[in-house]
Amino acid sequence: MIRLTRKVFTDLAIWMTGLGLVMGVLFPFFAVMMGVPTEYVLTPGFFAATMAAGFIVGGVNIWLARSIVGSRLHILAERMRFVESNLMKISRTGDINNCTPEACHIPVDSEDEIGESGKAFNYLVEALAASHRNDASVRSFGAMLASQLDLEALVNEALQQLLQHMKADAGAILIATEGQIRIAASRGIRTPDSLKSSDHVRFALQSEKRLCVTLPEDVAVEGVLTDFRPREVIVEPVLYKGVPLGAIILASAAGFAEELKSRLDLFGQGMALAMNNALTHDRLQKLAALDPLTGIYNRRFGMARLSEEFSRAVRTTGSLGVMMFDIDHFKKVNDTYGHLAGDRVLIQVAKTARAALREGDILMRYGGEEFLVILPAASKENSRDVGERMRRMVEETSVADGDQMVRVTISLGITSYPELEVASEQDLVKRADEALYTAKESGRNKVIVR
Ligand code: GH3
Ligand code: MG
Ligand code: MG
Repeated sequence: MIRLTRKVFTDLAIWMTGLGLVMGVLFPFFAVMMGVPTEYVLTPGFFAATMAAGFIVGGVNIWLARSIVGSRLHILAERMRFVESNLMKISRTGDINNCTPEACHIPVDSEDEIGESGKAFNYLVEALAASHRNDASVRSFGAMLASQLDLEALVNEALQQLLQHMKADAGAILIATEGQIRIAASRGIRTPDSLKSSDHVRFALQSEKRLCVTLPEDVAVEGVLTDFRPREVIVEPVLYKGVPLGAIILASAAGFAEELKSRLDLFGQGMALAMNNALTHDRLQKLAALDPLTGIYNRRFGMARLSEEFSRAVRTTGSLGVMMFDIDHFKKVNDTYGHLAGDRVLIQVAKTARAALREGDILMRYGGEEFLVILPAASKENSRDVGERMRRMVEETSVADGDQMVRVTISLGITSYPELEVASEQDLVKRADEALYTAKESGRNKVIVR
């Protein structure tokens, strides 16, 4: 229809009155065709009457259109303005959950074009809310990632948020470094270690592509990974500059909506960067704590650990053994076999000493060929047993140098808290050093406990 003005109802009024007038003009001729004598109808008076009638019908039509359609459109516009002001408020507070149907939807109560417009508006608001929710979760996930440099804390916090944002019921984060897969965090997974040998995980890491496994509802699955029956499992490789750092595994009892799956792309990108930073940080921390030659703790890190362990022993009235040992006549080893062979002997002694200790014991390189061992919860007697075992194991170990076997012995000085009442861990070290001196003085390859 040709637009006459910029107002629909004005156009309608013009068209309707125009049509009324045309009808009024044509009606007398129509009457003549129907057999009414011309002298009755083709008169100015009759023309005026039919045109007036056409004009009135046009006017009534305009009034009806305005009051039926116009008022509905008016209500629709009012409601849209109300929703718009609510959306503005929500975007200021950032909480899209306030966008309830009452606040953000317009009621659709007719099955016509006006109803369709209402529905389309509601869909638009829904799409807006979904995009806002997406934005908010990616932002909150990103903020969490940026605040964590510690790898363990990062993966645990990330997994918790991923489960929440992805509406997953169980999940795990795997770290793949140096050819090894490690389960860094897991929730709701029955046997997390089984993920390490999973073909799906291996496939996703190799192909560097997401793997979605959907389990049909009517098929029974044996050995289910989770405590519930998953409908869908996603294995998302975490890639940093094309290199897989690990994988995110998420399982859902109901399956994942497409919207959530595309959200996972964004999470994955942030995760890769944060995981790479945390892994680098982890490596640097280890590097800073370790002695480069022997791979055991260096003195700086080891002494900090000793201070912690001493405080813990005092606090919990527990025991703490401290052992200092030194390779006997090591100078001679260097002089006879050379410095490189000496280095190999040092590495072997550290390895043998480590093997003589329990998992929680701390072994550090204290000086050149001098070592310090912290034995948490060990009494004097326990420490003596460990020392004696270590002395014997070193004595029985040899290092090959060409066709010769190099053998060394160690002397050990041991003390322990609280048998020895000391004010600080430094006093324990001093006493162990004195005991070591006595071991050297009294013939070497000996354990002296003070
Ligand atoms: P003792 O039985 O009295 O301990 O005699 P020793 O010869 O072991 O004692 P001393 O402290 O006189 O000598 C320690 C030697 O250890 C001197 C030094 O060259 C050597 N040494 C220290 N650090 C290293 C190292 O990293 N590599 C090698 N190959 N030798 C080292
Ligand atoms: Mg020595
Ligand atoms: Mg020495």
